Amino acid sequence: MLIQKWEREILKSKCNPMQEGVHCIIHVDADLSDVIPYLNAELGGDFCSDNPPYVTFKIHGKLLTVHPHKIAINAIKDEQEANKIANWIVRQINEIWENKDNIEPTYDVPKKPQPLEVLKILPKTNCRKCNCPTCMVFATMVCQGVKGVDDCPELSLDKKKELEKYLKASILGRDKKVSFSD
Ligand code: SF4
Repeated sequence: MLIQKWEREILKSKCNPMQEGVHCIIHVDADLSDVIPYLNAELGGDFCSDNPPYVTFKIHGKLLTVHPHKIAINAIKDEQEANKIANWIVRQINEIWENKDNIEPTYDVPKKPQPLEVLKILPKTNCRKCNCPTCMVFATMVCQGVKGVDDCPELSLDKKKELEKYLKASILGRDKKVSFSD
């Protein structure tokens, strides 16, 4: 087991002590630097770096960041929720470390899709058949995940495949695996 012992520290917002919600720091007895790219690969990090090493997950409006010697969790409702998330991430780290020989580690995170890149693939006729006033508006909605490739009836099969490939390589194509209820 990578993490044998850990301690939870609950903090109130320094800027506004009256603010609802708490922050939680989990202090661990292990160096987590080496497990970070494995966590990123398995759980799908939103931000990740090797120097300094960290990985951040955005989930249900919270930010959870794994640093080499601590784990920070922001905007938690209460201590009960802090306990649930702390137990979850410690369990994930230990399980992923045990299974690391079967995981390809990476510090890469998928990029956000760009409306201009999507627009390049669209017919650019502004025909409005997708119920958008222009192809640019449609492209923006695609990047937000509101519209999909099937919503433009004017896309040829080749262009549809091209757009699908582009979106699959972006953050939209990722199957988010982080769920505190796991
Ligand atoms: S249906 Fe396609 S071509 Fe027509 S406006 Fe929408 S995105 Fe553009």
